[in-house]
Amino acid sequence: AKKATLAKQVSTKFDAQTFSPKVQMMEMYLRRAIEREEFEQFLVYYQPIVDIHSGQIIGAESLLRWQHPELGMVTPTELIPLAESTGLILPISDWVLNKVCKQIKNWHNQGFTDLRVAVNVSGNQLKQPNFSQKIIHLLLANNLVPDSLVLELTENIIMPDINQAISTMNEIHSFGVKIAIDDFGAGYSSLIYLKQLPIHTLKIDRYFIQCIANDSQKAVITTALIQMAHNLNLHIVAEGVETEQELAFLRQHKCDAIQGFFFSHPLPAREFEKILFANKRL
Ligand code: C2E
Ligand code: CA
Ligand code: CA
Ligand code: CA
Repeated sequence: AKKATLAKQVSTKFDAQTFSPKVQMMEMYLRRAIEREEFEQFLVYYQPIVDIHSGQIIGAESLLRWQHPELGMVTPTELIPLAESTGLILPISDWVLNKVCKQIKNWHNQGFTDLRVAVNVSGNQLKQPNFSQKIIHLLLANNLVPDSLVLELTENIIMPDINQAISTMNEIHSFGVKIAIDDFGAGYSSLIYLKQLPIHTLKIDRYFIQCIANDSQKAVITTALIQMAHNLNLHIVAEGVETEQELAFLRQHKCDAIQGFFFSHPLPAREFEKILFANKRL
């Protein structure tokens, strides 16, 4: 067994992740959890997205958590790359999508009919030939208004196979599902494509928002991004808003919506529901 492990290590690129016993342990537990369908170890948290002008919650982003009996809480920054490299991202993502659709229906039934929930899409998912069909089936099966679901795609997953990505995005878009470009500005941007992609929202990466009021470069870029989005008729959301100053800047420059610890951390569904009922506002 030791020999096999060593061979595996040698055959893989030298990278610290492969050698880390913690990562290997995580991989084993992850496989086991998926094989045994122990999805109760996974949790979906919801972080509010708030309209800057009305101050109201307009939606949420769903964020995966893995609560393992031995490993404790594993964050997505550890979990997602591992899940992607092992292919386990597909069953996990299916579970997330299904869970989120059920949750949207539940909130709509409770009267929050305008609420939109975003799901992060990984490169492996977008590459699936039946991805758009899957999404459409899921919405039909849950009897959901298509535009209550938003798919968040980064440029990094769109660009490697832009033609295939555009055709999948067009299918999803023509059914009525909204598409957001996530981490905008952080990836390898190709502004020329922006106009050709069937997108509804741009999410400005947290990097630009952090300390924006004291950083003239970030301020200039963000102001330009907001203008550009509006000229292209896109909705623009700032990610990672943590302070009053950041909010003030974004408000002054007419950003549409914000998401970040300033308003709320990601919350379990029940907690998110509480702030909906309490009508918590910015
Ligand atoms: P992301 O899509 O950019 O998600 C936003 C991340 O920023 C979340 O981290 C969120 O907790 C964090 N965040 C929100 N507001 C603030 C803030 O004010 N300050 C700071 N410092 N951070 C803030 P999280 O939940 O750890 O997720 C990390 C990444 O993992 C996500 O980045 C996304 O790329 C990926 N991810 C999470 N859930 C899923 C999923 O279900 N599927 C896929 N494929 N990827 C996921
Ligand atoms: Ca996201
Ligand atoms: Ca993001
Ligand atoms: Ca990110």
